[in-house]
Amino acid sequence: MPANILDGKAIAAEIRNEVSAKIASYTVRYGPIRLCAILIGSDRAARIYADSQRKRCLQAGVQHELVELPESTTQARLLAEIDRLNADPNVTGIMLQLPMPASIDPAAAQYRIDPYKDVEGVNPANIGLLFYDVPIIAPCTALAVMEMIRRSGVEIRGAEAVVVGQSRIVGRPISMFLTTQMATVTACHIATRNLHAHTRNADILVVAVGKPHIIGAEHIKQGAVVIDVGINSIRERDANGNIVRKTIGDVDFGAAAKIASAITPVPGGIGPVTVAMLLQNVVEAAYKQLNRRI
Ligand code: NAD
Repeated sequence: MPANILDGKAIAAEIRNEVSAKIASYTVRYGPIRLCAILIGSDRAARIYADSQRKRCLQAGVQHELVELPESTTQARLLAEIDRLNADPNVTGIMLQLPMPASIDPAAAQYRIDPYKDVEGVNPANIGLLFYDVPIIAPCTALAVMEMIRRSGVEIRGAEAVVVGQSRIVGRPISMFLTTQMATVTACHIATRNLHAHTRNADILVVAVGKPHIIGAEHIKQGAVVIDVGINSIRERDANGNIVRKTIGDVDFGAAAKIASAITPVPGGIGPVTVAMLLQNVVEAAYKQLNRRI
């Protein structure tokens, strides 16, 4: 039987509807929710992402301010800007638009964001609190992956889960969520030998590597739930022989969809759900700031 395709666009629209209602009720009681995104320089991808987030924020009833800084911005100037936004009671959420110029250390800047305003969930305080299962704000992509797994209907407790890719912001938080929810988790990475020997045991296979089609049919167990986080821009020839750009995932979707029970496409899978989770985090940050723990 062909796999159930987990339609990220439709799921994201449902989540945005639920979140918009929460935002409206917060705004009536406590005033506007405001997200500030910092964009340095003129990177095209960062601007496209910022513009689409702005659109989603405004549609959901969240104020959006794009703080634009010149290419020449120093790390010290960026940190000063983050300090200013941290201290401003009218700012609910702060995020950095990546990529930033090579002179900037984005991780050090993310560390500076107040954990209660860190709507992407990338501050070490938030990542660390995941270990205790009490994050203030959890990383958006990991939340999106867990939402997709939930919607696939698979039982997480007791399942064999394999997470390929163990970055601090994506793969490791996903491994931590799955562990907390009582899956038996195998964490694979660049030094893993015989990758397919691990992935073929997976009832739940999450792939977050950033290498096109690193996972093929030979890596997948019959009936597995396959979640593809990878986003890879490739060039290929179209029917007229012209070189065109295309976005594909880390999983060979065509091959995997014949074996899996459920699978996310790329594009249109985890990406849109991650943006919806960002909005959810923004409203969560607003509520949690009313009652801070630290
Ligand atoms: P990263 O480069 O920080 O980490 C990659 C991970 O993959 C590392 O743990 C590395 O050890 C592992 N890896 C590399 N080669 C491997 C191999 N041959 N076999 C097994 N593991 C290998 O990347 P990241 O920031 O975690 O992002 C991963 C992918 O997810 C990228 O394509 C990125 O664009 C995408 N991404 C998507 C979203 C979304 O919302 N959909 C969000 C964040 C990242």
